[in-house]
Amino acid sequence: MTTFLDTLLASSAARRAGVPQATTLRRYAPGEPLLGAPALVAGAGRFATALRVRLQDSGVECLDRSASGDHPSETTGERLGAVVLDLSDAVGLSDLEPLRTVLAPAVKRLRSNARVVVIGTDPRSLPSVTGATTHRALEGFTRSLGKELRAGSTANLVLAQGDSPDGVGAAVEFFLSGRSAYVDGQVVRVDDTPAPAPEGVDAATPLAGRVAVVTGAARGIGAEIVDVLGRDGATVVCVDIPAAGDALARVANDVHGTALQLDVTAPDAGERIVAHAVGRHGSLDIVVHNAGITRDKLLVNMDADRWNSVLDVNLGSVLRMNEAVLAQGTMTTGGRIVCVSSIAGIAGNRGQTNYGTSKAGVIGLVDALSAEVAGRGVTVNAVAPGFIETEMTARVPFATREVGRRMNSLQQGGRPRDVAETIAWLCQPGSAAVTGQVLRVCGQSLLG
Ligand code: NAD
Repeated sequence: MTTFLDTLLASSAARRAGVPQATTLRRYAPGEPLLGAPALVAGAGRFATALRVRLQDSGVECLDRSASGDHPSETTGERLGAVVLDLSDAVGLSDLEPLRTVLAPAVKRLRSNARVVVIGTDPRSLPSVTGATTHRALEGFTRSLGKELRAGSTANLVLAQGDSPDGVGAAVEFFLSGRSAYVDGQVVRVDDTPAPAPEGVDAATPLAGRVAVVTGAARGIGAEIVDVLGRDGATVVCVDIPAAGDALARVANDVHGTALQLDVTAPDAGERIVAHAVGRHGSLDIVVHNAGITRDKLLVNMDADRWNSVLDVNLGSVLRMNEAVLAQGTMTTGGRIVCVSSIAGIAGNRGQTNYGTSKAGVIGLVDALSAEVAGRGVTVNAVAPGFIETEMTARVPFATREVGRRMNSLQQGGRPRDVAETIAWLCQPGSAAVTGQVLRVCGQSLLG
């Protein structure tokens, strides 16, 4: 954990050096409005009408903009909390014009911590070269805009495969909400799997009735995942090594869950998790593979122990546990597997050949397993955290840490809570159409 003194030193040193101070991010708190300021919903795509209805039902004031009409906030001077631009029906490059004509004036009127969400169609689902080209172009636009926005605002892209508005609506709501505070410049693909309509899910406790297992739960990101899943209504089984037993018990007690002292590299770890979850709580619906270690060395100095332990904790154990969870047919429709990768698994990192290998392997696992279990109604995704303020990153030397925490569009490190909120969203019933993906929680890191 970064100390208060540390933070004070860092911010005063940064101020003296003229480094811009980061905006406090708008984070989700139960009971608070989804957005807290009007959203402009523009574009003539197939989701725009349903989105307006959905967002209004969620308490968001939606402003409209016809293709030629005035921008509403141009006449009222009202600040925008978000702009959602639906270009899902674009057929050629000229249909990309609203990216400039709608978003340029709207961006000038964004308040701090605002959201821009662009909606397109998944290029892989489009038969024509022009169509696929047009929709792939949205990615470069969104990522570039994310780098231009300031004051805690983010830009993200939703790519839909089909016509169903519920999965798209759930993704848009995630991006508008404080749950996505540290998710910036990302693409979420929404497939054709039917997602439940929002009125079928209790917004305050979307995970009610679900039993979740979180590994590496005693501290750091894992403890936050437990807290957020518990807050959202899940019954949580908290797994960590016996040496972390006291902390593990406290984390589990705080959410009225249960603790399971277990080394995830044990050959029977998966079977023991299933036995505990089903025996104590009646089912196993969600598994979050969070346990992870680093044992950094340049490859030339990498001994077998550093190599093997990192690969086994971060990757081998995940493969084995999934086999056990899925082989016994325990996880059924609505099941969720979420892995924790890292931007080191995407961009690579000096001194982390072992860690980078394991975290890239996690991405391969998500790719392959999501396809294998798609017919069972189980989704498999990963989050890839960037620089997150934890005990792990607090051990990084001061200057390196200060650079690391600022090398992203939001110019600050993320919090364990930010990773936990994204994982919890992937676990929700409304995220049924999101699978096989790696969602980075990195403030749009410059790495990778
Ligand atoms: P942490 O070291 O604070 O916590 C990891 C937890 O995992 C500890 O409680 C530890 O006891 C447990 N654990 C380790 N080996 C285990 C085993 N064999 N069996 C059971 N439990 C075990 O780490 P963190 O920063 O909270 O990281 C959590 C996850 O996020 C890891 O997978 C890590 O690689 C990933 N991650 C973290 C960051 C970051 O900036 N902190 C960035 C990218 C990815």
